[in-house]
Amino acid sequence: MRRWLVVGWMIAGIILFAGKAATQETLPADGGAEIPAPRYVALTFDDGPRPGSTEQLLEGLRDRGARATFFLIGEQAQMYPELVQMIGAEGHQVGNHTWGHVCLQDLSTANALAEVERADAVLQKILGPGDYWVRPPYGLVDQALIQQLSVPVVKWSVDPRDWESRNTQAVVDAVMETVTDGSIVLLHDIYETSVQAAFQIMDLLEPQGYRFVTVEQLLRIKGIEPQAGTAYRKAGK
Ligand SMILES: [Zn+2]
Repeated sequence: MRRWLVVGWMIAGIILFAGKAATQETLPADGGAEIPAPRYVALTFDDGPRPGSTEQLLEGLRDRGARATFFLIGEQAQMYPELVQMIGAEGHQVGNHTWGHVCLQDLSTANALAEVERADAVLQKILGPGDYWVRPPYGLVDQALIQQLSVPVVKWSVDPRDWESRNTQAVVDAVMETVTDGSIVLLHDIYETSVQAAFQIMDLLEPQGYRFVTVEQLLRIKGIEPQAGTAYRKAGK
């Protein structure tokens, strides 16, 4: 008698469990789809401005409501001031990539500072007074120089080596493999392959909840107050 009671309870349990599983399975697949939490990434573009590819990039950023950061070579900025104005007018962050794309580590501190200041003067002249953050060419800069600068230094956490492959798909794949919330991505708007890659990257990441912001916005969103004399590679973990 007892044994039958136990078996009976077991059968009841199985029916209840199966019923519950069936209910869960019958929920509509599209019902209650989760909205992904916002994630943020800063796309950065070095070595411009360059007529053609830079304008193409600006148009694609405008279409997507995206903001980016442009680290300009002083010489190029002086040659194409109207492009610099366009970048600034569209709400992107403009930064300093030295006057002549030199390796700052190879220079004396005085000469390295002069390279940075000469590019800064051109940006101040074209865009007006402001803090034009520095990205050292090749990412190479001594800590001593960083500490002498009156603005933050920006490195990167994602480098698809776009200048090397000049292959849109390879650049997209390399970024998609490593990008995460808070990443700073290094690209070059002087290559049309990289501009196309940036568009594909944004179109792949946007449905995942990613938003594209300037480096300064990225740091502030993540609760980081940007400091002069500090180098930033990413925001967050
Ligand atoms: Zn560069």
